[in-house]
Amino acid sequence: MNPKHKILFAGDPHGDFNPLIAAVHEYKPEAVVLLGDYDLDRPLESCLQDIVGLTQIWWIAGNHDFETPSKHKHLFNSALADQGLHLKVTEIAGLKIAGLSGIFLGRVWYPPQPPKWQDKQDYLRNQPASIRHRAMSLKYKAAIWHDEFEALKKLKADILVSHEAPGSHRHGFDVIGELAAAMGVKNIFHGHLHENYSVVIKKNIKVVGVADRAVSDLMGNMIKQTRIG
Ligand SMILES: [Zn+2]
Repeated sequence: MNPKHKILFAGDPHGDFNPLIAAVHEYKPEAVVLLGDYDLDRPLESCLQDIVGLTQIWWIAGNHDFETPSKHKHLFNSALADQGLHLKVTEIAGLKIAGLSGIFLGRVWYPPQPPKWQDKQDYLRNQPASIRHRAMSLKYKAAIWHDEFEALKKLKADILVSHEAPGSHRHGFDVIGELAAAMGVKNIFHGHLHENYSVVIKKNIKVVGVADRAVSDLMGNMIKQTRIG
């Protein structure tokens, strides 16, 4: 196997897993990492049944995965639930990969503005009892929380996968690049913006944006793409 194909990165599937499945059959990677926004109408393992067992499947969640209880359940209660990479560093095919699910939400933290809440406890403490005793809403679960982000920053990794983009993209956030730099990361792969591009940012970190349903290799080459971008 070509080393650049040992891990493949899949941009937002939005319900279409065929390009990823085709890439796995073609390139036989050790692992695939899915960058969020699945729009699941059935459990994730069911959508990926053609490749379960052929390769390791890892994922982060995007904003769409918190849109409805059903989309959320089909990811977080799936047979692949334990393969989530959010807020930790996982060794995959010999590389340390850090994961950051979700999006920045004005009601929680929208950099460069300061966070609205120190942490989830702080938010819940300040809600009326009726809300406080319920499970946190999916909207808030989809948010990137400042304290959790800062905890991730203390770890070391080779690659950061995030749903949100770093500030090198006009819709991105500088704090993502700062997170990568603090972690000693060399490559960022992100989804969400439906655009294929690559750019080198501060600290010589290579950013790869993977478009919806596109698949990238470790070098940032799009081996499956649904549009030119
Ligand atoms: Zn998204």
